[in-house]
Amino acid sequence: MFKFNRRQFLKMGASLAAAMGLEPASVPRIVEALSELSSGQAPVLWLQGQSCSGCSVSLLNTENPSPSEVLTQYISLLFHSTLSAATGHTAMEVVEKSIEAGGYYLAVEGALPAGMPQACVMGHKPVTELVARAARKAKAVICVGTCAAYGGIPAAENNPTGSVSVAEFLKKEGNTAPIIRLPGCPSHPDWVVGTLVHVIKFGLPKLDEDGRPEVFYGRFLHDQCPRFADYERENFAQTFSGEGCLFKLGCLGPVTKADCTTRLWNRGANTCIMAGAPCIGCASEIFAKSPSLPFYRKGESK
Ligand code: SF4
Ligand code: SF4
Repeated sequence: MFKFNRRQFLKMGASLAAAMGLEPASVPRIVEALSELSSGQAPVLWLQGQSCSGCSVSLLNTENPSPSEVLTQYISLLFHSTLSAATGHTAMEVVEKSIEAGGYYLAVEGALPAGMPQACVMGHKPVTELVARAARKAKAVICVGTCAAYGGIPAAENNPTGSVSVAEFLKKEGNTAPIIRLPGCPSHPDWVVGTLVHVIKFGLPKLDEDGRPEVFYGRFLHDQCPRFADYERENFAQTFSGEGCLFKLGCLGPVTKADCTTRLWNRGANTCIMAGAPCIGCASEIFAKSPSLPFYRKGESK
């Protein structure tokens, strides 16, 4: 198995510390954690409910550490619905044995069809049942993406499958494991990897009242937006990609908590608002919830 050298660990530790908003003094501990994790002592079970797999694809876009390193070296992924090589009976055996053993971190991607369990099955078993059982033996449950965190698109109005967020579903199940919500459609790879490393080595990160890590979701996008001065001056863009604040084009930055404008996406390349597209609130609890708030709409006048 490939082993990282100390220099590589230090580089990755520094990058993760920055991603999590931790002091540089924490780097040695993160390096220690990475070293421990690469020996497979921090098991993660990743199940998917009603999802498009977008959050998994987003995870593959991590830069430092790289995705394959995260998945194969740092974190001993017991199972991942999309990325694991195992299929069929072998895959289900891995899942069942993992649940039996317990003591893992459970990541769930996608919402759960509480009103129609047969709408989402794995190995002929409803995923609702698997998630309920897996959560009972988890050290923590991480809801990856807006569907898992708040219901998202599967729980949009009409909702024929009675889809709910993982958090809501587990609450009704009487779950006692800590629940962390990482909304975003998709969730940013830093939010996922940073949270996993934090829970594994430092315990639960500081969460807001909704269970979101404050380091990533502590402030409204609007308050950290490069177009905020335009908003103050009432200099509003008239068209997508135009100069000025995108508020009148329906920007939901004022009601969305996330750090996209400072963290940026696609390995620091850009983010929606900086590319001239209004924030559609993909990381907010209201995302896709109501036809009165379509993704693209005319904004209110100030
Ligand atoms: S573009 Fe959006 S987030 Fe930025 S200042 Fe305007 S309304 Fe706020
Ligand atoms: S800026 Fe808004 S729409 Fe774009 S990724 Fe961030 S939360 Fe989602």
